[in-house]
Amino acid sequence: MTFDYSSFFHSETEILKQQGNYRTFATIQRDIDTYPQAVFHTADGEKRDATIWCSNDYMAMSRHPSVIEAMTKTAMRCGAGSGGTRNISGTSYWHAELEKTVAAWHAKEAALIFTSAYVANMTTLATLGRKLPDLVFLSDDRNHASLIEGMRQTKNDKIVFKHNSVADLRKQLQTIDRDRPKLIVFESVYSMTGSMSPIKEFCDLSDEFNAMTYLDEVHAVGLYGPNGSGVAEERRLSHRLSIINGTFSKAIGVFGGYIAGEQKTIDFIRSFGSGFIFTTSMPPAICAAVTASITVLKENPLMRENYFARVKMLKEKLRVSGIGFRENASQVISVTIGDAVMCKHITDTLLNDYGIYAQPINYPTVPWGEECLRLTLSPMHKDSDIDHLVESLGKVMRVYNSTQKPQERAA
Ligand code: PLP
Repeated sequence: MTFDYSSFFHSETEILKQQGNYRTFATIQRDIDTYPQAVFHTADGEKRDATIWCSNDYMAMSRHPSVIEAMTKTAMRCGAGSGGTRNISGTSYWHAELEKTVAAWHAKEAALIFTSAYVANMTTLATLGRKLPDLVFLSDDRNHASLIEGMRQTKNDKIVFKHNSVADLRKQLQTIDRDRPKLIVFESVYSMTGSMSPIKEFCDLSDEFNAMTYLDEVHAVGLYGPNGSGVAEERRLSHRLSIINGTFSKAIGVFGGYIAGEQKTIDFIRSFGSGFIFTTSMPPAICAAVTASITVLKENPLMRENYFARVKMLKEKLRVSGIGFRENASQVISVTIGDAVMCKHITDTLLNDYGIYAQPINYPTVPWGEECLRLTLSPMHKDSDIDHLVESLGKVMRVYNSTQKPQERAA
């Protein structure tokens, strides 16, 4: 019998549906004047108003006038696309400027831009694995898929250490021959739990065991530090990290990703990284918009101060209303539900009955049993938006909790 491809694809997605893990995308229409209010296009062609509560455009920079002006002006001048890979006519003044800006922002010698932080992580880790003789990866057990994917692309040994555990990382490092190259791979702010890593202690271990460090600051760039370049800057540790990775798509509000580090390291990835070499470079207009956004963020520490004051206020209001969420020191607000079907039911109710859009977060983005609502605030959310969220979520969660058996509630 011949293999039935269609049935295979269908049955696999049916399993996802039964598990409650099938992803449906909400089609939204944002408007820079009314953000975070947006219009939803439902499956039956209806239009509805709702407030976005799950965007990673943390600082609402995607709508900042300087960013939009830089993007449109550059597009009008240079055209929409870059026209080639970086090697073949795809390096413009704007690419070079952006790389200089990013390197200076992180107080590093050089930077390299990619079409996303996912591609930056995958390419850099896979290239290091392939080229560094006998390299051992040491990876935090909560690392993002792009980091895992990069390490998986190579045959190198990989050791997974317990999340944010200095003791476990030390224990694992002790098992590796001192002369072998090692790379400690971790994040500063973990996107789903909001936990923050012990960067200093990991750097101390890297010195002690002669390991390199790779820090993903995707959920921190634009948000932390006097200049806004991340947690490493906030803790005055940027100089101790071998490679810092970040995105231009979240707090910076545009598109793309990067790595920053020592000139020799960056030149090495530029020269050998397949995911950098063999793909068309970012459009110049995107590079110009990112540079403008970084400049605004760098020059306005008050934006970050105000933002975190409001995050604190939202968390306090959730606490007062008895809505449980994972306590952390970051901007991430994650309300654990622990069941995929229920999580989707709660977010559907929030959208349909209260005009609140919070996407359910299910496996494989989080482990089974940690399905959650991940709420993100922006500077554009007004007090009335916050009050409406807390009140509505409180009502929905009270109904949800009253339907749970006591042992389920405790779990
Ligand atoms: N690293 C982490 C920790 C992330 O959460 C993400 C995306 O959500 C990425 C990397 C990839 O970033 P980008 O959207 O720029 O590809």
